[in-house]
Amino acid sequence: MIRRLRPVALAIVCLLLATVAVAAPVRPRLVVLISIDQFRADYLARSSDLFLPPQDSKGVGGFRWLMERGAYHTDAHHDHYPLFTGPGHSIHFTGAPPYKTGIVGNEWFDREMNAVRYCVQDSKSPLVGAPDPDGKRGISPVTLRTSTVGDELKMATGGQGKVWGLALKDRAGVLMAGHLADGVLWFDEETGAWISSRFYFKSGQLPDWVVSWNAAKKIDPFFGKTWDLSVPPAALKRLWTPHNEFANPRPGLGKAFPHPVTGGLDRPGKAFYAAFESTPYANEYVLETAEELIRREKLGQDAIPDILAINLSTNDYIGHSFGPDSPEVLDVTAQTDRQLSRFFRFLGKAVPGGLRNVTIVLTADHGVAPMVEEMAEAGLPTAGGYQEKALTDAVKAALDKAFGPGDWLKALSEFNLYLDVDALRQKGIEPAKAEEIAAETLRRQPGIYAAYTRGQIVEGRVPDTDIGHRVMLGFHPKVSGDVVIVLDPYTV
Ligand SMILES: [Zn+2]
Repeated sequence: MIRRLRPVALAIVCLLLATVAVAAPVRPRLVVLISIDQFRADYLARSSDLFLPPQDSKGVGGFRWLMERGAYHTDAHHDHYPLFTGPGHSIHFTGAPPYKTGIVGNEWFDREMNAVRYCVQDSKSPLVGAPDPDGKRGISPVTLRTSTVGDELKMATGGQGKVWGLALKDRAGVLMAGHLADGVLWFDEETGAWISSRFYFKSGQLPDWVVSWNAAKKIDPFFGKTWDLSVPPAALKRLWTPHNEFANPRPGLGKAFPHPVTGGLDRPGKAFYAAFESTPYANEYVLETAEELIRREKLGQDAIPDILAINLSTNDYIGHSFGPDSPEVLDVTAQTDRQLSRFFRFLGKAVPGGLRNVTIVLTADHGVAPMVEEMAEAGLPTAGGYQEKALTDAVKAALDKAFGPGDWLKALSEFNLYLDVDALRQKGIEPAKAEEIAAETLRRQPGIYAAYTRGQIVEGRVPDTDIGHRVMLGFHPKVSGDVVIVLDPYTV
């Protein structure tokens, strides 16, 4: 399970409207939203000396071009809880927190399905481009309860504005692009191909250009390359954990530079694609694919605005493997800067009128806490890892004690505890009473900061703190659980 605690995001909006003294806003031909997964706001300040200048004789830079020539929001935060990839990406293009979107986690217990479901799971939308005969791997935005900016653009232009999503992670692309998008492409770790679902491609066929792009197997030449440190070794002096003692890299990559990119295989295969995803080469590939998408789908070519939403998932994979204070995260941050610069220069050439007709938004879905082992070694007040089994065992024991033996729990999914409300009612037990007992039990467990009941949240009886507000903004009455857990700081 993936957990994110640090509630920091950043948003840079580059509105190149003011190059001349024009009072009226220029309608962009193309809006490109780039969400960098797990990209903490402090990475920009920490690494800015490693970035390209805002502009030079060859063209625009990367982050510094946005930071110094655009609108740079240094105090922009996601204000919901929990801070995961699904909820984060559902917000970028809806502006709506989970209490409206219903995307309360990467997964949750679905009462109708009577099972834990993935946030973009949809058996009615089987995969396209990968085997999925019974729809078990199906994906769509069916759970997203609001429209996106892309949906509104479609409705406002008679469907003429084009809307696309592109990401290694299906949930990132799907939740940004929305319900009316022309297409969303994501990465199949089994084959290294871009795939989608019948939600977007009802014929069951990917566009011809995607088929050709996949057939060209552009990833395979990366097999056997190494990921080397691209910044001066002296740059590592700023790091808290330069030696990766607790690194947990993907297969074959190794704990320290240089990282061989083979997945431990002797020819490209699943483990290689998983390793590849966790190197800066993958961001390069995503942005190259974005260029092909813009060319082939003719985005930004006419006066009707188009939208492309991109997630760079790799920064998150690397952060999980090596921790936020590692040489690898510093290096991928610096490499992302150069890759973005190349991409922006491409946009300047591809869109008639150049970058003044492109609106670029750069943001992140959440931050990250240091690795638990690093925090413990450093002496930070961590209670360690989230112990789901111990928590559910404690709640079960308390409910059995109060109501007699029974299957009172449905699930603990991420930070939502779900009671079997029907079973409680059948025994004449008020669910609110069970909520209280469960929450009180959870509050006494190590690593738990707070446990709020459904009753507390829907009636607004949570503390008037930022955490209380985050929990309320992250709670959807039809989707969320009966008790919501908040962990102690530095506990993940
Ligand atoms: Zn994420």
